[in-house]
Amino acid sequence: MSKDKLKVAFFDFTGCEGCQLSVLNFENELLDILKYVDIVEFREAIDNKTDEYDIAFCEGSISTPSCIERIHDVRRRSEVLVAIGACATLGGINALKNLQDTESVRETVYGKDKYLFPTIPAQPIDAIVKVDYKVHGCPMTPEEFIKIFKALVMHKIPVIPDYSVCVECKLKENECLFDKGMFCLGPITRAGCGARCPSFGQSCIGCRGMVDDPNQNAQLEVLKKYGFSIDEVRKRMNLFNAKDVKV
Ligand code: SF4
Ligand code: SF4
Ligand code: SF4
Repeated sequence: MSKDKLKVAFFDFTGCEGCQLSVLNFENELLDILKYVDIVEFREAIDNKTDEYDIAFCEGSISTPSCIERIHDVRRRSEVLVAIGACATLGGINALKNLQDTESVRETVYGKDKYLFPTIPAQPIDAIVKVDYKVHGCPMTPEEFIKIFKALVMHKIPVIPDYSVCVECKLKENECLFDKGMFCLGPITRAGCGARCPSFGQSCIGCRGMVDDPNQNAQLEVLKKYGFSIDEVRKRMNLFNAKDVKV
């Protein structure tokens, strides 16, 4: 990337747009970052459009033939492509439809007009094009977005955790939810959210996706201790990780 002011663009594919909305909530941090970047395209915030950008932040999964065309186009025009949010990084909730026959899903949603709306199984962006960085979570974890954004502006390589939510949970000295008779996906879910849900007494439901090698993760012992196998856990990961889950 050049050392001039960076051109940054935001794009949305299939998703609820919650991740883009959360970007707009970072008013204070954004004002600082805007000293170093120009936001040249962001449908939710400005009318401008451009053909050139250094960093493309992309929200949403790829779920139609036109999404495929568009993401290839964005990839060609951007130097760095960052997937933001679980839909973009994992396929997310949209990928639940992949567990059913695509034709029957289309019929349920569009009825007799289903031929007007071609859809394909929902996929994360890196199933189609190279993704340089991922901001995990549903919605994406705000602190991580700012951390990655700042690292890119400073021409540094952002570090993304590959250890489990349990590590952050224990650092916060939370009482483990398993000990309260609840189930939690923290042992195999990628950290980075600061164990947000268990810190408020709610189970982790895996919105940041699995750590890279859950079978090797030491926290697997926790699951065994409470009588859960990795296969059972994978099924519970369906909500956000349906594309990876073999049931
Ligand atoms: S990751 Fe969650 S908040 Fe972000 S676009 Fe997808 S459904 Fe919406
Ligand atoms: S299993 Fe859940 S509640 Fe228990 S330590 Fe891990 S993240 Fe925290
Ligand atoms: S605790 Fe789990 S479900 Fe909650 S934000 Fe973190 S990764 Fe997502």
